[in-house]
This record gives sequence, structure tokens and C-alpha cells, in this order.
Amino acid sequence: MAAFLVAGAMPAAERRSRAPQAAPVAEFSGESALQFTAKAVSFGPRPAGSAANRRLQDYIHSQLKLRRCQVIDDPFVARTPAGRIAMNNIIARFPGSSGRAVAISGHFDTKDMPGIRFVGANDGGSSTGLLLEFARILAARRYSDDVYLIWFDGEEAFGEWSPVNGVFGSRHLADRWAANGTLSRLKALINVDMIGDKDLGILQESNSTPWLRERVWKVAGEFGYGRYFLQFGGPVEDDHAPFLARGVAALDLIDFDYGPGNAWWHTAADTMDKLSAHSLEVVGRVLVEALTRL
Ligand SMILES: [Zn+2]
Repeated sequence: MAAFLVAGAMPAAERRSRAPQAAPVAEFSGESALQFTAKAVSFGPRPAGSAANRRLQDYIHSQLKLRRCQVIDDPFVARTPAGRIAMNNIIARFPGSSGRAVAISGHFDTKDMPGIRFVGANDGGSSTGLLLEFARILAARRYSDDVYLIWFDGEEAFGEWSPVNGVFGSRHLADRWAANGTLSRLKALINVDMIGDKDLGILQESNSTPWLRERVWKVAGEFGYGRYFLQFGGPVEDDHAPFLARGVAALDLIDFDYGPGNAWWHTAADTMDKLSAHSLEVVGRVLVEALTRL
């Protein structure tokens, strides 16, 4: 945890001579991330194109106004099995000085599930909340690289998942960033999904870039969080995939064992009581440090 204790690294004499003390480096708060998650969930089911989805976008914008960052909207119309749907990715850019960039991403939409009230506390909510807390941290802490925080719309499929039904937002942004040159500056993208489960176990997503995964697992081990970062895994289709396909180093952090036998996934049981501040804090703190090592 030494990396967080910047003030403590100073000699004692220098510390005494500094008055007033520099503000402490902000630490990622799991409680704060959980509150942001609860706020997102309070809008109800938030499928792409819905009124609740747009209200959540307004809330994300209102939070980003409080941070020192550039906010970029990425609106587009997706062709889905449910017809043409207007979607929008929200991107916050915290500028660095190196000319290169890193990205942390997650989705804010929830799966459209006719007949059940699916509020997606973990699936859609936790990634939204973690990123909002990350924005609070980045307002007070600069990295040498540009840091992009990305809230993807349209991660979820309408009906059955297929290569052309799902990850609409990330496919769109990967195309856009390939065309405008941003991808050539991007050193790595780390995506988070379903990382709020009280019983946290992040699998080793096997399509992810090995060096990137190893670096994140190393930080987790150093922080004493090794038990949450599993030693096994498998392939998962998620928002990192369109970036991998374009040659970007990318990693998906996902806990795909949610409830007994993953029984709460895509069900009405995906509610706030299944989440914990500690799980969000584990992932957030590992990522705050991992960004310094890319
Ligand atoms: Zn989902």
C-alpha cells in the first residue's frame, strides 16, 4: 500500500516545515462506489434506448461536471433484433503528459428482460458505480498517461447473444477510435463487469492479453487480495473483445459466479443486497495502482 502514502515518504523535518499540509492523496472508497451503484440502480431497469437509461446518462454527466475532466459523448444508432436503437457511450478524459493513454471501462445499460424487473445491481450497476468513484479519484490524482473512463451503452444483447447482438457500444467506440487515431495511443484497456458480488472471485478471462492480466494479478497479490483473483478461468465475451480484435492490449475483470451456480445472473435476484463495498474497493484499489504500472 506504500504507493498511496506519498506524504509519508517525506523526511520528518520537511513534513513539519510544510504548513498547511498538502491534501492527502484520495483513496478509492468502496462505500462511495457502492453509493454510486445504488444511485444507478435506483433508476430501475436501464436497457439501451429506454427513458431510465437516458436519466442515468444525465446523472453520470452531472457527476462528471464535478470532476476536472473532458467529457465526450459518443452517440450512435445500433441495429438490433429489437430494431434501430439510439445509444450513447460516455467517455471522461483525464489528461496526462506522455501522449499515450490507458482506459478503464464498463457498461451502464442493463439487459432488457421482458416479464421480470431486472435492475442489474451487479450486472451494469457495479461497473457504473466503480467508474463514478474512479472519476472522483482521478479529479485529485494525475497519471503520466491520459486516463479514459468509459461507460459503455448497449453491452447487453436483445434476446440471445450473438457476434452481432451485444457489445454494441464497445464495437462502435473501437471503430471510432481506430478511425480517429486514438487506438494507436492506447497502451491498454481494462474492462470491469459484475465486480460487486459480496463473494468476489474474478476469473482469469482467457482471451485477455496475458502480460496485462499478470500485471493486475501481481498488484492484487501485493495488496493481500490474492484470494479474490482466481487462479483459473475461461473465455468470456465482453466489452474488451472489440479492442482485442483491433490489436489493443485488453483485459476483462469479471466475476462470473454470482449466486449458487451463477443463479442470480440475469434474474430479478440481481439486487443491491448481493453486493458489498469491500468487493468494489478491492477492484478499485488494485486498478488505481495498476494504472501506474502500464
Ligand atoms: Zn449481463
